Amino acid sequence: MMQWTVRLEVRTSAGEVKTTELVTISRPAVVSTLAEVGLALAETKALLAKLQASMLCGQVAEYAAQHRVCAACGILQPLKDRRTRRLQTLFGTVAVEAPRFKVCGCRRATPLAEVTVSPVCASLTARCTPELERVQAELGARTSFWDAARILDTLLPASPANQESVRTRTHAVALRIEAADRQAAAEVTAVRDDTAKVTAADASRPVVMLDGAYIRAVPGHQVRNFEAICGKVERVGHPTRRFALVRSVAEQPHALLRAALHDQGWREGDAVTVISDGDPALPALVRSATGDPVQPILDWFHLSMRVHHVEQVMRGLCALEPPPLAPLDRAQIDVERLRHLLWHGHHEKACEALGRITSWAQDAIVLNILVVDAKAKRLVARCAELRSYIERNEGALIDYGERYRAGKPISTSRAEGTVNQLVSARMNKRRQMRWSPRGAHRVLQVRAAVLDGRFGHPAIQLAV
Ligand SMILES: [Zn+2]
Repeated sequence: MMQWTVRLEVRTSAGEVKTTELVTISRPAVVSTLAEVGLALAETKALLAKLQASMLCGQVAEYAAQHRVCAACGILQPLKDRRTRRLQTLFGTVAVEAPRFKVCGCRRATPLAEVTVSPVCASLTARCTPELERVQAELGARTSFWDAARILDTLLPASPANQESVRTRTHAVALRIEAADRQAAAEVTAVRDDTAKVTAADASRPVVMLDGAYIRAVPGHQVRNFEAICGKVERVGHPTRRFALVRSVAEQPHALLRAALHDQGWREGDAVTVISDGDPALPALVRSATGDPVQPILDWFHLSMRVHHVEQVMRGLCALEPPPLAPLDRAQIDVERLRHLLWHGHHEKACEALGRITSWAQDAIVLNILVVDAKAKRLVARCAELRSYIERNEGALIDYGERYRAGKPISTSRAEGTVNQLVSARMNKRRQMRWSPRGAHRVLQVRAAVLDGRFGHPAIQLAV
């Protein structure tokens, strides 16, 4: 039999050294299986828990001892009683001693009034360490609350390792992130001179890419699905900043976006470019966060998809045997030009071309038999769709070619990536998850912060 004993040597601030035994691990002298080699998880968890309890109790005792000394006259204040406080940590819940002292007579207003203080209780402002809260929130944002609790429970002596605790901590952290964002939003400064505005107007202008995603609502909620708005802010020379919100429950939706812009060095008065899919609510949200000026750009991908629909129907018509009676070539040329026209920002010419294609299709409906009829009608519908999309987004159509050649983003495809990272990977339908808007909103706050690497590592603060 072999034995390993782990001893902990503590040296106090006064230089006093104390040794305590933590654990003893035994193994057969001749190992018969690989399972007996080295430390096992259960032993490690026990060791960590003991180490944590020993360290924490020692630290708190030292803290209490130092605060027992009267700050005014230097004598020891009398002990009133000993209570215990429980502190949850990543390495177990530790019961620490929290002695109460009678306030020294020299500091009492009237000598007879007995006042007690508990320095330990006063310094333990939360039931858990910031580190435990942060790890629970991070895991809770990355995976389901249930899985997060299982992971913690598997690897660490952390307690309580239940999903309710993970949920509560994730929500608590989310509220703090939101509060910090509101604070940041309020700290945005304004551009002072107009020259700065002009410089900002160009290359270094922040680009906000926005997209919506639908999340399944919990049963009993008024709607089956609700929308989360996701996006990112990109600016040359700054790390990308993600944000997400469920509008109906965000306390100040525009503040979250404003904070994201603030992070990118944006100042009020700087122009902002917004790329979105044609939902007017999205640029409006940015406008409410920034005031003007906002340059909206219709996402090229969504525009291009609608062009694709027209092209597809046309291809179907061209493939018909025998060919339609109304000659195809003119309409075909117009369809082929559509994409080119829109790419270069000639949306009026594109609308004229759509008009010609539509009137051709209407002729074809009059002249031809049924088989053409269905396809030609579909062509009319697709053209109408594209045309009204162009008209609705007139102010957001640009020369995509020029912008693309300048190396600037023209599509929210990157925002869609954000939707996938933020929403789909944690809340999508495959996971059969249903959410309350508030719960989803909060998890999204933490998730965005985790993905951005904005999650801090605050050290445990015991002494003030
Ligand atoms: Zn005193």
